[in-house]
Amino acid sequence: MSETYQRATQNYWVKPLTFATPFLYGESLTSWLVRAALKHGCSPLTFTYYYWPQYRIWTYDADKGFSHFDGQITSDIAILTGHNVDTFDDQILIDFSEDTSIKSDNKSPLQWTTPLSKRNRYSRLGYPYCPDCMEDDKEAYLKLQWRFTWSVCCTKHKTFLQVNCGHCNQPYQPQLLSPEQRFINRCHSCLGKMDQAISNAIPSEALHKFQQLADEAFYSKQGIVLGQVVSMVQWFEHLLFLINLVRRGLKNPNYMFGKLIAALGIDTDTLSLPKTALRFDFLPVGERVALLECAYRLLQVDANDWINVCFDLDITQNSFQWSKSTVTPKAFSEVHDQLHRVPTRSYGAQSEDMKPASPKVVMASWNRLKRKMQMRDSYDKHKKG
Ligand SMILES: [Zn+2]
Ligand SMILES: [Zn+2]
Repeated sequence: MSETYQRATQNYWVKPLTFATPFLYGESLTSWLVRAALKHGCSPLTFTYYYWPQYRIWTYDADKGFSHFDGQITSDIAILTGHNVDTFDDQILIDFSEDTSIKSDNKSPLQWTTPLSKRNRYSRLGYPYCPDCMEDDKEAYLKLQWRFTWSVCCTKHKTFLQVNCGHCNQPYQPQLLSPEQRFINRCHSCLGKMDQAISNAIPSEALHKFQQLADEAFYSKQGIVLGQVVSMVQWFEHLLFLINLVRRGLKNPNYMFGKLIAALGIDTDTLSLPKTALRFDFLPVGERVALLECAYRLLQVDANDWINVCFDLDITQNSFQWSKSTVTPKAFSEVHDQLHRVPTRSYGAQSEDMKPASPKVVMASWNRLKRKMQMRDSYDKHKKG
């Protein structure tokens, strides 16, 4: 680290790093902070404490950027990296629901973002990475792209992303590395190199195509739904709608939406529903892959086919009203508006909570509990270790 010198800014000791650590194209802020720290022979904790002692940076998700609690941090990082402060505008996770950068609540997980589930500096879920991208010590860095939940494989290596260490299966947590490990591609727990693939499964061609399509929508800020150009936000809103439609269909394959997705080319006999009813972003990579492949299939269905199949199955506008809060995405209106509409009934108070839960609901909450216990187990091991 550099020697300090007085300057008329808030953090007068901030000046370009002794060992230049440029911010790489597509890199995440977590990645840069870890690399810069290790390059200067200190832990990520020491590094961030040195520059911003008033914050416990690693209890936050650094990839969200810092403008929601202190914009000065980003300005400091710009000086440290030698880049313009604007460089970081596109290099942070964004809030899809509002199409703006994160404003207020800094701890809540963002839509389309893999949660890290922080407990102090410890993450109960690992940081997503491609084992092949981690091979070279000096070249290794983490891409912001990997934090988005539609990203399930590495576009360069066509391998699945993973979140645990290939050697010890602990969540990958670069922020816990010590200076002795020297490079970001190490496991804080077993000190092994993160270049070991956990599974030898290879992403399907369809998944790869989907991934490219989603990346395109993200980078160009627009996409195509039912032949129409829509904004990025609408494109992802539609994608989530399709994912939920698939989940609904798989839940009851013999009911309306099960028949609908089957008629549109999804094999409801062999596919199974995610083990938990958690929101998409919280599902493990494998379960997200299955849902994305189905959603990609549905993305390719044209408006006429949608309308015809819906008519055949007596699906009305009301059918898409799964709950009071359901909003049919704008991009789907071309189909939705063509369907019949049944005058809405007002539902009287139902004794919903008197009914015993169905076995499916019980199993889903049991699986959620098991997942929580696994996460706690890893955390306890970490605490003892
Ligand atoms: Zn890769
Ligand atoms: Zn390990």
